Amino acid sequence: MVDPARSDPDLAFFRQVCGPRGVVTDPAGQSDYLREPRGRFAGAARAVVLPGSTAEVAAVVQYAHEHGIAIVPQGGQTGLCGGAMPDDTGRQIVLNLKRMRRILALDPAEGTVTVQAGCRLSELQQAAAAHGWLFPLSLASSGDCQIGGNLATNAGGHNVLRYGNVRELCRGLEVVLADGRVWSDLKGLAKDNSGYDLKQLFIGAEGTLGIITAAVLRLVPRPAQQALTLVPLPDVATALQLFAYLNASFGEALTAFELMSAFSLDLVAHHFPDLPVPRTNDSPWCVLIELSRTSAGTDLASDLASALDASAGADGLRNAVTAVDRRQMDRLWAVRNAIPDAQRREGPSIKHDISLPRGRMAPFIAEVLPLLQARCPGVRPCIFGHLGDGNLHFNLSVPRAGDAAAFLAQRAGLERLVHDRVVAHGGSFAAEHGVGQLKRNEMARYKDAVTLDLMRRIKRALDPQGILNPGKVLPER
Ligand code: FAD
Ligand code: ZN
Repeated sequence: MVDPARSDPDLAFFRQVCGPRGVVTDPAGQSDYLREPRGRFAGAARAVVLPGSTAEVAAVVQYAHEHGIAIVPQGGQTGLCGGAMPDDTGRQIVLNLKRMRRILALDPAEGTVTVQAGCRLSELQQAAAAHGWLFPLSLASSGDCQIGGNLATNAGGHNVLRYGNVRELCRGLEVVLADGRVWSDLKGLAKDNSGYDLKQLFIGAEGTLGIITAAVLRLVPRPAQQALTLVPLPDVATALQLFAYLNASFGEALTAFELMSAFSLDLVAHHFPDLPVPRTNDSPWCVLIELSRTSAGTDLASDLASALDASAGADGLRNAVTAVDRRQMDRLWAVRNAIPDAQRREGPSIKHDISLPRGRMAPFIAEVLPLLQARCPGVRPCIFGHLGDGNLHFNLSVPRAGDAAAFLAQRAGLERLVHDRVVAHGGSFAAEHGVGQLKRNEMARYKDAVTLDLMRRIKRALDPQGILNPGKVLPER
C-alpha cells in the first residue's frame, strides 16, 4: 500500500516537521487515538500528528492555517464529551501532545512548576512529590490525562474545595494560536494586572481557541497529616448541614466532601468484591470527608471525631468509618473512585454532570427524583460527587428488569428533564467535564443570547477560519 504521507504533500510536510514517526496514517496505529472512554463518539482522522516541541506545533498549525486544514487537539482522551474526537469526514487531523511531556523547571522559591502540556497528570504529581510538594489536582483519570487536557477542560476533581479548579492552579501558559504564532506568558507571577488576563481564555476552551503547549502551575505544601472518614447520613439536607459545620470548624483544612448514594456503594460492593465497601446500616447516603493539615499540631483524626460527635442532627454519625492509616485511606478513596466503573459494569446509564448552589441541592433532588420515576419507572439514580463544591454526578442506571435499548431511547427526554430542573434551580448542566460535542444542544437551549454572542466573537477573533476543533463547544447557529 502506498503510504499517504508520501503521496500527500500536506502529510509530507507534517512528516518533515515532526519526523517519520510523528505522523500516523495507518488505521491500526490510529486506533489508539480514536478511542473514547464511553464509546459514544466515533471519528476518522486524516492523520494523527505527534509534535515533539512547541516549534513543531507552531509549524503544523501555521501550515494548517494556510491550507484550511482543521485540527483536533488531543491529550489523554479521558474527557467524557467527545471533545478530542475528530468528525467522521476523515479530513481533520488529530494533534496529540503526548511526546511533549517534560517538566521544564520547578521553582521552590515561587512554589511553581513549568511543564509541557503533554505531561501526564500522574507524572506531574510524582515529580512534585519527589521535590517535597503536592500538585493538588486529583482525578481518577490521572494516569492517562495530560496537563494540556486538564487545562483545556478546566478540570476539577476531589480537592477543588480547598485548592480550586485547575484554573486556580495556573500561573501562566504558552499557547500556539490558530495562525501558528506562539503566545507565551510563562513568568509565573502571582500578581500581574497589566491588562487582560489572556490565559483565562484558553483554560476551559476545550481546544477551540488555541493549543496549549506549556504551563506554569502552582504547587502547595504537602500535608503533614490527613484524616478520612465515611459518614452514613439520612438525607442530603443533613449532609449539607454537616458540611456547613465542618467548614466553619476546620476552614481550609477541609479538603474533600464527597457524597455517595447507598446505591452507588452497592454497585461498587457488587462489582468490586475485593474493595472494602463500608456498611452503611441502611442509610440512603454517605459522605466521605477528608481533612488535611500542613502542621503536625493536634491529632487531626481525633479533631474530626470530636467535631462529628459535637455536630447536631446527624443521626448516622455513630456509624462513621474512619481510616486509621494511609493504606486504609487509599482503600476508602478507591471505593469512591470505583463508582463510575461499577456503574458501567451494571449496564447502560445516562449521565449528568451538574452543579447547583449548595442551598438548592436538596430541593432539586427532592423535586427531580419523583419526576424521573414517573417518566421512567424503576430507573436507578446513581448519585455521587463533589457535594462540597455543589457538583454532583447525577447519573441514571437502567431499571433492573429494564430493556437497555428502551431505556437509552429515553435519553434525550430524561436529560432534558434533569437539565431543565437544574437550570430552573440556578445551576449548570456542565460542571466539570465541559461541553465537547456532547452538550452543544444544551449550550443552544440554556445559554442566553448575549453569552453566546460573546463566545462567538471571541472564537472569530482568535480563530477566524474556524480550524481549531470545529464542531465543539459552540452550538450550530
Ligand atoms: P482529552 O480528553 O484528550 O481532551 C479534552 C479536551 O481538551 C478536548 O476538547 C481537546 O481538544 C482539548 N485538549 C486536549 N489537550 C489540549 C491542549 N494541549 N491544548 C488545547 N486543547 C486541548 N474531570 C474532572 O474535572 N473531575 C473529575 O473528577 C474527573 N474524573 C474523571 C474520572 C475518569 C475515570 C475519567 C475517564 C475522566 C474524568 N474526568 C474528570 C474528565 C476530565 O475532563 C479529563 O480527565 C481531563 O481533564 C481531560 O484531559 P485529557 O488529557 O484526557 O484530554
Ligand atoms: Zn467528578
